[in-house]
This record gives sequence, C-alpha cells and structure tokens, in this order.
Amino acid sequence: MRCFPTVRCAKTAKGPDRLNRPFGGGGDVEGPWPESCTGAVSLTFDDGLDSQLNVAVKILEKHGLHATFYLNPWGDHWRERLAPWAAVARRGHELGNHSTMHPCSKAYDDVTPDRALERLDLPAIAADIDLAEKRLAELSATSERSFAYPCFQDYVGIGAGRKSYVPVVAQRFLAARTQGQQANHPSRCDFHHLWSWPSERLNAATLVGYCELAADAGSWCIFTFHGVHEGHLPVADVDLDQLCAHLHRHRNRLWVAPVIEVARRIRQWRSHTTGEDSC
Ligand SMILES: [Zn+2]
Repeated sequence: MRCFPTVRCAKTAKGPDRLNRPFGGGGDVEGPWPESCTGAVSLTFDDGLDSQLNVAVKILEKHGLHATFYLNPWGDHWRERLAPWAAVARRGHELGNHSTMHPCSKAYDDVTPDRALERLDLPAIAADIDLAEKRLAELSATSERSFAYPCFQDYVGIGAGRKSYVPVVAQRFLAARTQGQQANHPSRCDFHHLWSWPSERLNAATLVGYCELAADAGSWCIFTFHGVHEGHLPVADVDLDQLCAHLHRHRNRLWVAPVIEVARRIRQWRSHTTGEDSC
C-alpha cells in the first residue's frame, strides 16, 4: 500500500483514474496513515485566487496530488466566479468552507466594519458559514468538507465579551484549520483547531523540511498557501513544484491527501483504537 494519493493506494493509478478517486477513509484503520507511511501532508490554499486555478492546480496534478482549496462564495456573482472550481472538485480536490464574508479582526487595515470579528456575534458567524456551505454544496457533491478560519482567527466580540466560535465550527464540520507551531499528532490534535504552517515566501527546502519533521514525529503537516506569485502572501511556482516533486517521490513514506480525508481516517483510527467517537 502506498500513501498517495488516497488511502487506497496499493498501486499507483495512472491517468485520470488517479485523480478521480473519491475521498478515502474507509477500510484499513490499523494506523493513522496507510501502512507504509510514517506521516501525512495536506496542502491547503485559501481564498480561491486565480493563480491557484491557473498554476497551483496544474502543478499538483502534474505530480498526482490532491489538495484542499478554501473558498469564499461571496456576492451576487459567486456562482459565475467560482464555476471553474466545480471541475477541480470533480478531479478529487476538496473545496473547503472559508465563510462568505471572510471576517477578520478590525485591527487589519482592509477589514470593513461589517466584516470585523469584534462587531459580529455567534449567530451571525453561524449564518455566514451556513450560507457558504449551501453555496459550496452546489459546486461540490461531497457531503463533507473542512473549514478554515479566515485570518486564522476564531473569535467574535471584544474584550470581556469575546467568545470563541470554534464550537460553531465543531457542530458543523469534521475538521477545521488554523495556524500553529508544529505538525498535528494524530493522538492529540484538536480536529477543530488543526495547526498549519503559513507558507508564504517559504522556499522548497524549508517546505520539504517541515514534511520530513512530520514524518519523523509520526504527525500530520498542513501547509497554508495563498497565491502563486500573486497577492501579498505568495509562494513561488518553483518552490511549490519542488515540494510536490518531493512528495511524489516519497509517496511510500508520506501520505498526501486533502484535510477532510486525513481527518476522517484519523477519526476512524481513534475510534478503532480507543473507542473515542468524536474528535
Ligand atoms: Zn482567507
């Protein structure tokens, strides 16, 4: 069994079939990863930027990798704007929920008052997440997806009135991604507060190093990317390509899969080994 590109990887599929498998997670739960693997890697991309469609998806698929793309279906023309992503989902990538309005702290220069977390409450966050989910369901037939906290921030309100909206997310999703200080250990990670590495401006050697640290620790490394030579949080195409080439070359050791797929398998493994029913 190989740890790439899905759980069922006894042999490396060729051609379109390789990229058309449904998200795995069933069957073997003897370990948190497929049998020959010592760790997992998820490549995630936020905000649905053009360079993800035009560059990142091509690099990923050249190496036979599936990723998670966290989209924001905002505005009256979300359907037209996000239409190309439906085909990406059909080829086996995950379309994750990133809210519609992308709320962040008002401390950021570009956050308008209507999107400021400090001014929102839990029902407003829940309604926005639910609206995004309804719209994403039109793009991707999958019944489960993961969530990514916009700006890695997971609260509403301010000062003594600040509240976490992690419970709102936990009621709706199997897994959710924020940022953190290390890879996620399968026995200990909080599925609704998964840690990721913000990956802007990192070179290939650094990205590969994070993967290998995770493999050594028996952990799950999640990267957060934004644009490829686009926007204020870019990664270079050459660095992304070299990372993907490394992951392909070492597919017997490193399981690469979308966030929802890895989370589903770890959940099954935990349930199998400890009887733990939730994350
Ligand atoms: Zn974002």
